[in-house]
Amino acid sequence: MPTDVLSLDIQYLKGVGPMRAATLQREIEVRTVGDLLYNFPYKYVDRSRIHTVAQLADDMPQVQLRGQILDFEKEGAGTKRRLRAYFSDGTGVVELVWFKSIAYVEKAYKVNTPYLILGKPQRFGRRFSIVHPEMEKAEEADNHPTPLQPFYTVTDGMKRSGITSRTVQKLVRNAFDTLRSRIDETLPLYIITEHGLAPLHDALFTAHFPENSMALPEARRRLKFEELFYLQLDILSNAARRRQEAAGFVFTHVGDAFNGFYRYHLPFALTGAQKRVIREVRQDMRSGRQMNRLLQGDVGSGKTVVALMCCLLAIDNGFQACLMAPTEILAEQHHATLARMLDGTGIRVELLTGSVKGARRRPVLQGVRDGSVQILVGTHALIEPTVEFQNLGFVVIDEQHRFGVKQRAKLWAKNTQPPHILVMTATPIPRTLAMTVYGDLDVSVIDELPPGRKPIRTLHYGGRDLGRLYDGMRAELQQGRQVYVVYPLIEESAKSDLLALSTGYNRLCDAFPDFRVGMVHGKMKPADKDAAMQAFIRRETQILVSTTVIEVGVNVPNASVMVIEEADRFGLAQLHQLRGRVGRGADQSFCILVTHRPNLAEHTRRRIGVMCETTDGFRIAEEDMKLRGPGDIEGTAQSGLPFKLRIANLVGDSVLMAEARTEAARVLHDDPQRALPQNQVIWQQMKRLKNGVVDYSSIS
Ligand code: ADP
Ligand code: MG
Repeated sequence: MPTDVLSLDIQYLKGVGPMRAATLQREIEVRTVGDLLYNFPYKYVDRSRIHTVAQLADDMPQVQLRGQILDFEKEGAGTKRRLRAYFSDGTGVVELVWFKSIAYVEKAYKVNTPYLILGKPQRFGRRFSIVHPEMEKAEEADNHPTPLQPFYTVTDGMKRSGITSRTVQKLVRNAFDTLRSRIDETLPLYIITEHGLAPLHDALFTAHFPENSMALPEARRRLKFEELFYLQLDILSNAARRRQEAAGFVFTHVGDAFNGFYRYHLPFALTGAQKRVIREVRQDMRSGRQMNRLLQGDVGSGKTVVALMCCLLAIDNGFQACLMAPTEILAEQHHATLARMLDGTGIRVELLTGSVKGARRRPVLQGVRDGSVQILVGTHALIEPTVEFQNLGFVVIDEQHRFGVKQRAKLWAKNTQPPHILVMTATPIPRTLAMTVYGDLDVSVIDELPPGRKPIRTLHYGGRDLGRLYDGMRAELQQGRQVYVVYPLIEESAKSDLLALSTGYNRLCDAFPDFRVGMVHGKMKPADKDAAMQAFIRRETQILVSTTVIEVGVNVPNASVMVIEEADRFGLAQLHQLRGRVGRGADQSFCILVTHRPNLAEHTRRRIGVMCETTDGFRIAEEDMKLRGPGDIEGTAQSGLPFKLRIANLVGDSVLMAEARTEAARVLHDDPQRALPQNQVIWQQMKRLKNGVVDYSSIS
């Protein structure tokens, strides 16, 4: 038997049992009482005030009423079925309505019994009704007064088993009632004191049952700090271990491949920023440490040539390099670009994607194995176990957001030592977040565009501006320029989207009889897609109608107009990426955002406003994060963490994260042998967290 209640299997907690235990485990990964206590509410509702029915008015938020059900009434059948209860507190009657779980409600709630209910009143005629109210027996509510009621995430699976937020609340209450002593600390006293943290027990209790809203921030700060501290401790100790163990290949040599290319083949002068980044990479490659570097650079800033020159450094030192792109089209384009730039150098660069099959695939794999292929470009097909490198020393990953941490880990197994890694992205993420997601990742920035680029002019047109739009397009086309017209394609509405795309295509064919129009979308066969892209690249078509398949990386410098149809359906980052397809030459380019709705939502107006105002990718990323909230980035980032964050937020809590990181670094520095007695609590907690199942019984 465990000595501590926290490690107790959840099924033995009062009010749970095997059925509910199975549901809790399956739905929200709550296995022990401890898990339950670390399952925090997502909001709190003020329940200090009880209204009367007579006081109800239009537009009130959630209110509490105290009264009794006078009578039930059932109506309708099938999906129209509903249950109605007439509820009175003596000052008037409201209707309570249920569309779901009717059988359960009928059984659970009795007439002539006092209840405390919570819900949002809505007026229907003269009477108010409340749909799916929160119900609690008044007696029970009085036993446990909760001025701020916690609300817990409840999945559909939990609802089906009759577990509501209220049930979870009761279980948490039971757990605290069962505890015989205070919950043991998970941080050393000196850290608690120095950072002014609340004791764990109090923080946990307050996080579930705050006495008032003032008490919450302090409790949550303590719990967040703890979480972030252990996160940073894990990241920093892994980084330290990697630095010791995973020595990197040492590239001391700058030879013919690099110098020859630089002198005779580079088609332009590098920008200062490009030179600086190459220098930073060279230093890493010489250091004896394995490089993990993130290269941030806006669309069009010239990351490809930087990647290529770093590959050449690897080749000069007798190693192979590879470049991974997120899509086949991009991989093909990268391959074509590199092959063109390397023409005449004698360096062998090959392509490997899912479409390179059979007789074409075999020699590539063979060349990779015997080392004659010096640069391999491809999709994630590159990291399949069948691809054996003779001596892989350097890997470039383009557009990191589509590559998971796990996939990167696969790369490490490709040689006796992990190759140097350069991750390139046009979507910058905040520094603390980058350090957390990539551990010991170093960051380089290309903050300068190649010379002579004119900032793209961005305009917002409504549906009525079609004439203006066509005139503008025609003017550019007549000067020999090319035009992209992009339509949204969302899986859920794929049919109507594809219809809009082909309608748009036909309309353009009619409007521009003197020019040729191509079309490409994600539902086409890869070969057809490729043919359409190639035709545009070779200028055989002048207008390319497409869905977002061209989003990332495609390079056609002669294209000078990007028309984005239904721009309101795209996110800011995506709009910026799309716009980056033009403005790649020296001529003035245009981006036209077309919307058809008469009234745009506030958020949409701001997105479009930002696009028209600036072409600075870093500013756009910032605005994007403000508008979208950190959610998306958070999701991607979280997937790479050693354990799930339950209360802290990677983006929102960046200040606390920096504080936790500093403390974690200090602990590692002061106690490298993990021998200090005051720190034992840390290593024990760390072990528990890493084991996934938190075994609180081992706390002495
Ligand atoms: P991204 O950073 O978006 O991947 P690319 O590497 O595709 O950008 O470069 C965009 C365009 O700029 C390409 O046509 C490339 O040849 C060109 N380019 C890159 N560096 C320079 C430079 N220093 N001077 C002039 N043009 C450059
Ligand atoms: Mg690129």
